[in-house]
Amino acid sequence: MPATPAWPPSSLPRLFVDQALAEGAVLTLEGPPANYLANVLRLAPGAQVKLFDDRTGEWLAEIAEAGRKRATLAVGRRLRDREPVPDLWLLFAPIKRGRIDWLVEKATELGVGRLVPVITRRTIVDRLNLDRLRAHIVEAAEQCERTALTGLAEPRKLDSVLADWPAERTLFFADENGGEALSAGSGPAAILIGPEGGFTDEERAAIRALPQARPVSLGPRILRADTAALAAIALWMASAGDWSTSSRA
Ligand code: SAM
Repeated sequence: MPATPAWPPSSLPRLFVDQALAEGAVLTLEGPPANYLANVLRLAPGAQVKLFDDRTGEWLAEIAEAGRKRATLAVGRRLRDREPVPDLWLLFAPIKRGRIDWLVEKATELGVGRLVPVITRRTIVDRLNLDRLRAHIVEAAEQCERTALTGLAEPRKLDSVLADWPAERTLFFADENGGEALSAGSGPAAILIGPEGGFTDEERAAIRALPQARPVSLGPRILRADTAALAAIALWMASAGDWSTSSRA
């Protein structure tokens, strides 16, 4: 369910739809998205909304029929192309509900391309509700005006992730034992953050043995895993140049 906007809305409501959009298309929404438009936002036929589909960009659409269970929309002109997504993955050991929801929301807002949950020896959360995390990604993308969704991979064990690591992708490994300062450089990249209990010595050695791994320090304090992830993403985005682009460009 999308975030409840301020009332009255200062800009048009935005909604992700999981189908390819095109000018002139007529779209039927059923269930929660229809209820959101008709009941939560109280939009009537003739009202305009913005739609994005993670494929073709963002479109203006007009409500033709608004009901709690079903809404019909006519798709108008394209407002924006799909955004270029920074080629940054975030690999993180799953943490408790609440903190992981926050992490997924903020990583999406910051423009991360893909989230990869990684199971390490000290990971204490063994079950992940990917549907809930996906809903947080959609909600964050709607709210922050992204036209692309952050991808979400199935959880994988750390050794399997390291075993087939892509040759061209730098792996910035946040190591509380120390490393260099994080600077993006060029090319595809990933950030790896450990669980609240940290990495074991064997895991740390296996990661450091990977030729693409670059141990990085996030300062003299031990950060919680979610804080460490956000700090590292911010450093990478700023040094990669993402932060010199206006949101309205
Ligand atoms: N239990 C570990 C300890 O006491 O050494 C701390 C783990 S920390 C809560 C969780 C993860 O955040 C770490 O595995 C690391 O990836 C990252 N992290 C936290 N602080 C960091 C720092 N100052 N530099 C680099 N990485 C850090």
